[in-house]
Amino acid sequence: MSGARSHDLVARSLRSVWHPCTQMRHHETSPPIAVAHAHGAWLHDADGRRYFDAISSWWVNLFGHTNARINNALKDQLDRLEHAMLAGFTHEPVVALSEKLSALTGHALGHCFFASDGASAVEIALKMSAHAWRNAGDSNKREFICLQGGYHGETLGALGVTDTPLFREPYEGLLRASHVAASPDARLASPGESASDAALASLERLLQQRQGHIAAVIVEPLVQCASGMAMHGADYLTGVRRLCDAYEVHMIADEIAVGCGRTGSFFACEQAGIWPDFLCLSKGISGGYLPLSLVMARDDIYRAFYDDDVRKGFLHSHSYTGNPMACRAALEVLAIFEDDDVLTRNHVFAAAMTEALQPMAHDPRIANFRQTGMIWACDAMIDGRPDKADFPRRFSAEAARNELLLRPIGNTIYLMPPYILGQHDAAWLAERIQRTFDAVMEAA
Ligand SMILES: *Cc1c(COP(=O)(O)O)cnc(C)c1O
Repeated sequence: MSGARSHDLVARSLRSVWHPCTQMRHHETSPPIAVAHAHGAWLHDADGRRYFDAISSWWVNLFGHTNARINNALKDQLDRLEHAMLAGFTHEPVVALSEKLSALTGHALGHCFFASDGASAVEIALKMSAHAWRNAGDSNKREFICLQGGYHGETLGALGVTDTPLFREPYEGLLRASHVAASPDARLASPGESASDAALASLERLLQQRQGHIAAVIVEPLVQCASGMAMHGADYLTGVRRLCDAYEVHMIADEIAVGCGRTGSFFACEQAGIWPDFLCLSKGISGGYLPLSLVMARDDIYRAFYDDDVRKGFLHSHSYTGNPMACRAALEVLAIFEDDDVLTRNHVFAAAMTEALQPMAHDPRIANFRQTGMIWACDAMIDGRPDKADFPRRFSAEAARNELLLRPIGNTIYLMPPYILGQHDAAWLAERIQRTFDAVMEAA
């Protein structure tokens, strides 16, 4: 797939770079694409080929690549302050960002703690939860409940509350056990019972069994993305909030993938009319420019750490905590949301995209077509095919031939595009996805 100019770079990459989430040997037959430059939704290689970034570069890019507004904000910030430590110091971008995010929750979550990647934000929320209970005099609450099919990152603590067998298995012996409640995935509903109700019953059983030992329940609101875009109703989140209150445990909303407008509202939890005790953000918050993550916490959590005793403080830190460049990018992202009425525009685009995907939705080789906000997913019926395990790789390769960046998860084909598209893009995307799907299914 790579031409003359890309070829050298790819060869050097395969000699020196260990690529993430990849069996490197597979690159012998499907080498990585060498991106030379990018603009808007398009990634370009050095040989003049282009790829439409239909998954927002692993769900981080909200307003296109090399976005003029974010670029200008960063150029301005670069000459003011590139970085300063956040212990004992503060600066305008981190303060303004904390204020703005807090305001977006109606000040329900009034305190922001910063890190650099999603997994760290999850670790922070877990540590803060157990430590808050301990500071409140309850050292027994240090177990966590996570969901079947849940994904929260791949450092050891985050992996401990992740239920993705492929990612967990080699490290099982290193992980601290957590309790796994049933997934509210709407596809699991049995006749006459909603998947939400069944999942809430499962959660309540665990809360009863381990009463007094559970610190927090961690969920991905509305869409469990990494396990294959499993979607559930907002009623599930309302139910989790109610159970957390009843059993006195914290609710952690991991909005790393679903936050920042992805599900249709800025925070996914808004659709359930609830706020969690901790809310984790990363991925889209910096527009896909710089690593930034944060945990927003309620005032009463914050107060549990406020003391003369240094050991009662939250002594967690990362070197690049609250990096001014990353915070400035995030501020520009929030400004774009406001100035361009992005949520309303996404709503209009989403209707057009869903309409354009109708032939695919009704394709007999497709099951479970579903959509939440700016996420579309469906499951290819490839059961019984000998090359099932190879489906994502074959699909991605065919998509690239059709100028599309798409990476199915198992047999789930999904779309998570940036928020800069119009009606014309919807029609083009739908046509290219169908063409890719047809080619892959015919070749099989
Ligand atoms: C991506 C993701 C993470 C981990 O974020 P990293 O920045 O990759 O560490 C955690 N939770 C969810 C829901 C995610 O989608």
